[in-house]
Amino acid sequence: MDCIFCKIIKKEIPGTFVFEDEQCVAFRDMNPQAPTHVLIVPKKHIKKIADASEADKNLIGHLFIAANEMAQKEKLKDYRLVINNGAEAGQSVWHIHLH
Ligand code: AMP
Ligand code: ZN
Repeated sequence: MDCIFCKIIKKEIPGTFVFEDEQCVAFRDMNPQAPTHVLIVPKKHIKKIADASEADKNLIGHLFIAANEMAQKEKLKDYRLVINNGAEAGQSVWHIHLH
């Protein structure tokens, strides 16, 4: 599958990883829009959040808890979490990710 995030997850192309567990990975955005800009990405390939189903609810919840852990690790007190859904909302990589 021609998905850049799947390739990063499989370590076929490099990423600056900050976290990994059985369900997700987190790596630094290559074009940071904030002093700390990390992408939290499920290992399961789902194109966009609108395609997530009831069966994915634990996984989607897990991404947010991982984000909290990430923020603690990065010593961020306040932070913003963003998911772009669809091209018109600014999504450019077609594998769910939390900024
Ligand atoms: P979005 O526009 O919400 O789909 O976000 C995609 C993000 O992925 C952008 O902020 C890009 O800078 C980032 N990105 C794209 N390719 C890579 C890559 N190979 N490594 C790290 N970040 C990437
Ligand atoms: Zn993918």
